[in-house]
Amino acid sequence: MGLFDLAALIQRGAFPRGLSVCSICQAWPAQAICSACIERFAQPLARCPICALPGFAHPCPSCCASPPAWDQALCAVDYSFPWDACVARLKFTGDSASAADLAHVMQHAPGVEPALEWADAVLPMPLSRERLRERGFNQALELARHLSPGKTIRDALLRIRHTPTQASLPRAERLGNLIGTMVVHPAHANALHRRRVVLIDDVMTTGSSLQTAALALRQVGVQHITAVVFARTDTPPLAPDTVRSSVADNPHHVSHRLGSP
Ligand SMILES: [Zn+2]
Ligand SMILES: [Zn+2]
Repeated sequence: MGLFDLAALIQRGAFPRGLSVCSICQAWPAQAICSACIERFAQPLARCPICALPGFAHPCPSCCASPPAWDQALCAVDYSFPWDACVARLKFTGDSASAADLAHVMQHAPGVEPALEWADAVLPMPLSRERLRERGFNQALELARHLSPGKTIRDALLRIRHTPTQASLPRAERLGNLIGTMVVHPAHANALHRRRVVLIDDVMTTGSSLQTAALALRQVGVQHITAVVFARTDTPPLAPDTVRSSVADNPHHVSHRLGSP
């Protein structure tokens, strides 16, 4: 068996994790993402402390003009080479084991460990039931489990209707598509009152999904919200006042559209 056959076998999971090639540079043997690649591609950047937009040491103009419903966002890497491929592998191939690799990179991003320690609860961004059925797992939940198994609450946030894949929609339509689609599960609402929460997601683009989640959390009195994402595009956040949760307007309507989690 040649070295390349062996590498292919390892990549297909034929050997226990820990003995593998780096998924970025193929160095062997290595951690699933080797420390040389983390050193090379995941250097911390100056980021807006509120929305994690790269290139700002202080709150960016969008956040100054209209701060989002969350308090701070932390991000490990830019959504670009080689991390875009790592995210795609996590999201579309069903390889939830690669969540461990990305969580490892997230854990080393500035501020992430203290935020997780300080949090009372760690909540993954939810998928709709339809998307969960189609994909088989929620990549944000996989990340959360690796980051903070003891504090992760899997179903505290729920999406209350299916929305088309965000990436397939023009930017302006993403917002309308998300309005009123997230709610805190009533079973967790009291426990989250006046608590500190970390929201986990794989990729942040305009921040509109995070905004929808943060509004739902504020609705039940969550005190502090830190968004922790693996990767972020360089898109400035959408003005938060354009993201309005219909939960606020019509709580009864929402609560009876909820099924069991
Ligand atoms: Zn490597
Ligand atoms: Zn900002």
